Amino acid sequence: MSKDACSSLQRHPTYYLEGGDLVLKVENTLYRLLRSHLALHSVTFKSVLGIPGGKGSDGQSDESPLELFQVKESDFNWWLDWIFHSSATQLYNFSEQQLYVILQLSDKFQSEDGIKFAIDHLALHNMPPLLRMSLGIKYRVQEWVRTAANQFMRQPVGSLSVEDFRQLGDIAHIIYRRHDELEDRRKSASLGPPSFRTSIGPASGCTPEAHTSCHNAWGSFWTRQVPKLLLHPDKGQVKVFDTVLDALEALACPSGLNPACRAAFLDGVRHFKYEVLHFETYIMQEGVAEIITHFATSA
Ligand SMILES: [Zn+2]
Repeated sequence: MSKDACSSLQRHPTYYLEGGDLVLKVENTLYRLLRSHLALHSVTFKSVLGIPGGKGSDGQSDESPLELFQVKESDFNWWLDWIFHSSATQLYNFSEQQLYVILQLSDKFQSEDGIKFAIDHLALHNMPPLLRMSLGIKYRVQEWVRTAANQFMRQPVGSLSVEDFRQLGDIAHIIYRRHDELEDRRKSASLGPPSFRTSIGPASGCTPEAHTSCHNAWGSFWTRQVPKLLLHPDKGQVKVFDTVLDALEALACPSGLNPACRAAFLDGVRHFKYEVLHFETYIMQEGVAEIITHFATSA
């Protein structure tokens, strides 16, 4: 190293340790650390430092430091902050940004405990779903992948910005398609009660003659009330399909419909789960699975 280059280097105020046996150079800063300490936290350091004579005299002195390329000094400081405080994490609060850096460098230096530390602590933060998804895939945190995919699916499509679209890429297609599917199912569910209704006979207190009127009243009750609940123009007012039956039950029984027959019709819909009640959950789950598969195959 030339004298000029040397003169612009600075020793790190904290991490140039008295008893250190390894000098590292990151950008324009020199660090003196313990080989055994770094090797304890990083497979990369362990293998590089463990090769006898493999790196010549690099790291022996300020004049011949072991240089870490493509690492920013500020980032390396945070990674060292983690190493030196990892046994007292409760006393040291890393910011979200610091945790990302610790995660990236731990990945680069093959530090399993660093990755685990960062992931455990990032889990406490409210990450944007796209970031959560890509980190979840990369570091195999299934819970993150699932949560992020759920967030994507639950996001109202109209709330996505141009920037969201750019970042989401193909995911935006999946979200759009699944939301379309949902909208179609909501519309067809609004058209009328499920067709099983003709097979439900008169309840006690009703007669076969009067029951024709029950069926008609039930049909028009459904087409009058359900679209309001499922297709409200203000998306904040839209009911999740699972709650529609409770909403219908809470309304006054329309004239011409025997209350006991209405209860039987509502029960009938409840038992018709996969066709009517749970399509929403089903479409959401399918969307989540599709997003996860897409990410896994493109990662
Ligand atoms: Zn009836």
